[in-house]
Amino acid sequence: MLESRKSRKRIDDESMSRIKNEQGLVFHIIHGSFVDGYGVRTPVFLKGCPLRCIWCCNPEGQKGHPEIKFTASHCNGCGECVAACPANAIALNLKREDDRLRIDRERCTNCGKCMEVCDKGALDCFGKYFTLDELFDVIKRDEQYYHESGGGVTIGGGEPTFQPLFTLKFLRKCKENDIHVALDTCGYTTTREGFKALEEADLLLFDVKGMDPDEHLKNTGVSNKPILENLKKLNAMGKPIIIRVPLIPGYTDSTKKIEETAEFLSKLKSVERVDLLAFHEYGKIKYVQLGKEYRLNVQPISQERLDDIKAILERYGLNTQLGG
Ligand code: SF4
Ligand code: SF4
Repeated sequence: MLESRKSRKRIDDESMSRIKNEQGLVFHIIHGSFVDGYGVRTPVFLKGCPLRCIWCCNPEGQKGHPEIKFTASHCNGCGECVAACPANAIALNLKREDDRLRIDRERCTNCGKCMEVCDKGALDCFGKYFTLDELFDVIKRDEQYYHESGGGVTIGGGEPTFQPLFTLKFLRKCKENDIHVALDTCGYTTTREGFKALEEADLLLFDVKGMDPDEHLKNTGVSNKPILENLKKLNAMGKPIIIRVPLIPGYTDSTKKIEETAEFLSKLKSVERVDLLAFHEYGKIKYVQLGKEYRLNVQPISQERLDDIKAILERYGLNTQLGG
């Protein structure tokens, strides 16, 4: 166990030093998205987040270092990866068709040696380092669409301010090149550069996950106090803001909670729109690929209830849409 902790610390140290050396750790890029801001956008997802929301649909964005992804349906049980693993972190059980291979995540150093030997594509990695110029070259391919549609780049995650310096520099590079930048944020940042990035973005997609600090702590792992303080400050600066409210049955969707949120938001003059993000389970497969437990057990919200919630927010004078 001591060795595992050392391995874990080594991964984190290496990851932080690369991030400090102006490399960003990215786990996904989408070209030609019509959500996550106005116009045609290129959402860039940075790895690492200070929150651990029970309903998180991007669990691969939580940790600030690369992580091995295992896709069981591609694995034929050949055992090549077991032999290649220097940390002795992989166990095969050929008798269990549904649970053939396990990676001990405490032992795994994410060295990637197993990936190199697996020719079935069952092992891959969430997270790739990019320099500023490399990432800029990727998003620049879509530049024509940004200008034609009023779109741009959306930096999200994870939480973009978890890599504050890289996010700030990337955002500035885009803006210097006349590319609109939205930041998709949970609002929880305590660093100067992180707040500066929020301040300098052209548009904020800002998550609001509840008004009660204790409940917020229980659901996400952090208090909402610094989040709401940041939101109030950014509102006072006149920053264009789209609020995103996740609707998770039994956690965030009661009429009382929606009214409390609506009451708070109705006082913020910079809020252009509220987007209601209905619960879905698209991220469930990624929990399996990461060997993580999926803790949520809820049913989708009916269309009728979604319409009711939208009507509540509209009664508070908030421009509201379903999805976003
Ligand atoms: S090398 Fe690939 S196919 Fe072979 S056991 Fe490992 S994960 Fe499965
Ligand atoms: S990345 Fe693969 S080879 Fe490297 S320690 Fe983890 S399981 Fe073993």
